[in-house]
Amino acid sequence: TSGNLNLLITGGAGFIGSHVVRLFVEKYPDYNIYNLDSLTYAGNLENLKDIENEENYKFLKADINDAEVINSLFKKYRFQRVIHLAAESHVDRSISDPVAFVKTNILGTVNLLNAAKDIWRGEPEGKLFYHISTDEVYGSLGDKGLFTEKSPYDPNSPYSASKAGSDHFVRAYGETYDLPYVISNCSNNYGPNQFPEKLIPLFINNLINEKPLPVYGDGKYTRDWLYVKDHAAAIDLIFHEGKGMETYNIGGFNEWQNIDLVRLLCGIMDKKLNRSKDESEKLISFVKNRPGHDKRYAIDASKINTELNWKPSVTLNEGLGKTVDWYLQNEEWLKHVVSGEYLSYYKKQYV
Ligand code: NAD
Repeated sequence: TSGNLNLLITGGAGFIGSHVVRLFVEKYPDYNIYNLDSLTYAGNLENLKDIENEENYKFLKADINDAEVINSLFKKYRFQRVIHLAAESHVDRSISDPVAFVKTNILGTVNLLNAAKDIWRGEPEGKLFYHISTDEVYGSLGDKGLFTEKSPYDPNSPYSASKAGSDHFVRAYGETYDLPYVISNCSNNYGPNQFPEKLIPLFINNLINEKPLPVYGDGKYTRDWLYVKDHAAAIDLIFHEGKGMETYNIGGFNEWQNIDLVRLLCGIMDKKLNRSKDESEKLISFVKNRPGHDKRYAIDASKINTELNWKPSVTLNEGLGKTVDWYLQNEEWLKHVVSGEYLSYYKKQYV
């Protein structure tokens, strides 16, 4: 690899990380981009097949829970900036195994912070620890109001509690050790490469296979949805132009009740699969609510909108159309993920 800036991206084999890695590898040929990922069930290098041989890209298989390995990688590659996405990310899994979330999301983040602090000590210029987080740290909203960067933290699930903990540690390292950082908290993402345990790809997969669509509770739960490439573009902007030691909220100005979102998706699938109108909706099946389920999230993204001039490029209807097209055109990817076959991709390419 050649060039100046050594950039570490963690979790780059995952859903959002793969879009961030591709964007940076293609847009910044002068950066040396290191994708560090332990390849859990959620990490899939097939997501990055098209760029894996680029000169400015290198994959590092490592676990952020292993402090010794992380320290030695920081010494070896002299990372100057970090975009930290590696995490356990699925709320339902956090309910059955909260400890895994404490380990990776809190301890793993602290291991990265320590390594960065030690190697950047006394030389903060040009350094940045960019921590990627979620709007779920703010808890649940009533029918009105929006989360701003000043909203108090009030997490309700083990997942959001672990992300809140990691956000606090990043800020604390900034205050205590002058570690240059920035944090962004984003709403629900959807798009290509998302593991089919999350709502949209799960439902697309079930619709393809004519399986039931399990909707939690009364379906009136409200989320703000953002197309993943719009999130990656916001990350690029914050990375380069965001003010240090600050937080940015990222959202789509795009609130949907789950049931309306599912109906929209069903309509799109009916058309794409040439099914008769309303055929997909018959698959909707209401299931017992998730415990601790937050009623409503909605983001006030006016800070990034006014300070950095960012706004989403697509509506939910457009983004969902692109997403459905991608899953239909990449049935092999979907089959590999559902069957677990993607897990052997790393061995074939790298070992
Ligand atoms: P994901 O589960 O698809 O990917 C996570 C990646 O991290 C995987 O590649 C996995 O192998 C890797 N990883 C997990 N544990 C690791 C460890 N101990 N060491 C090294 N790598 C490890 O997640 P995602 O949806 O792409 O989310 C990425 C980040 O964005 C997370 O921090 C998440 O909290 C945040 N976020 C996600 C959303 C969303 O809607 N998906 C919204 C806002 C913020």
